[in-house]
Amino acid sequence: MTQPSDINPSDINPSDINHFDITWQERGGPPRMSANPDYPQGVDLDVRAPSEKAGPSCTVKLPYPTGKGVIGTWLVRCQRCGRAVGITAASRADDPRSAIIACKGMEGVA
Ligand SMILES: [Zn+2]
Repeated sequence: MTQPSDINPSDINPSDINHFDITWQERGGPPRMSANPDYPQGVDLDVRAPSEKAGPSCTVKLPYPTGKGVIGTWLVRCQRCGRAVGITAASRADDPRSAIIACKGMEGVA
């Protein structure tokens, strides 16, 4: 069983996640493919749609390495605007370590 409480708080930079809820959802068993050797330190994802790239966004730091030994999804939810995205991780070296997410809550502020 994998619970959100399995996340080690020391893996997360609080300044980056202080308005995000991050929970882990296990999706499958062990990774079936080996890690991409081009990304031994993890990858920084941009999960914005092309139309969102000009607007406000947040960078959220993900717990990395995932270290759970299974494929799953980080569910990241913005406490400001309620936006939620799912980011797949596979307990491999090339897992995502951060993600750029468009933030609706900051529209009109800038
Ligand atoms: Zn937001």
